[in-house]
Amino acid sequence: MQAEDVEFATEWSDRALKLMADHGIPPCPDNYSVWFRYASGRLPELNKEIDERIENNEPVDLDTTASLQKRYFAEDKLTDVTLNTGNKLNTEVDQILKIIEETVGNSTALGTTVREASEGLTSQSSASDVRKAVEAIVSASRKMEERSTELEEHLQATKKELNELQQNLEKAHSEARTDGLTGVNNRKAFDEALAREIAAAQQGGAPLCLAIGDIDHFKKFNDTFGHRTGDQVLRLVASCLKSGVMAGHFVARYGGEEFAVIMPATEVLSAETIANKVRETVQARELVKRSTGESLGRVTMSMGIALLQPGETGASLIERADACLYEAKHAGRNRVITELHAADSLQAQAS
Ligand code: GH3
Ligand code: MG
Ligand code: MG
Repeated sequence: MQAEDVEFATEWSDRALKLMADHGIPPCPDNYSVWFRYASGRLPELNKEIDERIENNEPVDLDTTASLQKRYFAEDKLTDVTLNTGNKLNTEVDQILKIIEETVGNSTALGTTVREASEGLTSQSSASDVRKAVEAIVSASRKMEERSTELEEHLQATKKELNELQQNLEKAHSEARTDGLTGVNNRKAFDEALAREIAAAQQGGAPLCLAIGDIDHFKKFNDTFGHRTGDQVLRLVASCLKSGVMAGHFVARYGGEEFAVIMPATEVLSAETIANKVRETVQARELVKRSTGESLGRVTMSMGIALLQPGETGASLIERADACLYEAKHAGRNRVITELHAADSLQAQAS
């Protein structure tokens, strides 16, 4: 009842009780609610229906009152409840749909179930329709939750496996390209890097030098101090090369006691300076036998350097660097020979 109707309530109540007495209707609450509403005139359809019956001399008795009560008031209450629940559910449904559409797209089974359930609901839906719709949504949500937990676990496991696999692959890739004894790049890595750097140099037009170094009289060293001590010398030379070259240079063990350095963006004179510094470092190191502290003297190395020519292949560049190395050996070892000086050195030898 609305606030402004309160002052008329007694009046409507008196009228309702009188009308009920006139029509022989017992004043129980359900009957009273019909006649009270009639007396108030606040429900025009109800009044119209009762007035028409009276005008047509149709009975407005207990049965009529019970029927009116059921249609106008009992159903009213149910409709309110259903409508409320339906509205709430529709709000929930909209929110659920929004989340699903935002997270997994609207084509999932859950999305379809929720949409179908919500489409079936109207303000006239019965409590059992609403319950069925809720049950369908809850069941679909549970399945979805199970699926997504399963999916999440599966994805985590797959991610872990893929990470491990990638790490193993990277390790295997790196091991396959590393020289086991010295830790520098091996011949395979050298071949790949040379092809890559030659292609880049030919495309970019920057100078590229290749240096090949070889330890002098290494056979004699091995014969005198043993192969294992010889291995330590190989490690020492590799370490001097690695720390002596510039960033971007590529150091590799090219053969038994031969090393190579690819020097991208490097002119011959710079390459020669770098190679000579490495050579001097190697020469400066006095070798000591670890177990006894015995001095093993010093080792020296010779190097040949070639500058990449336009359109040249890797094999040709190696051949020319090797030729320079050969010249360095012939000129007395412990030196660096570049193509610029190879002719001079041969002439000096001849004279
Ligand atoms: P040259 O100055 O003309 O280069 O004389 P060399 O004795 O160094 O030349 P040669 O090619 O005759 O000898 C190379 C030696 O390098 C032979 C071999 O015993 C040694 N060598 C090759 N690989 C290894 C290795 O892995 N470890 C050790 N300790 N020695 C090696
Ligand atoms: Mg050799
Ligand atoms: Mg040698």
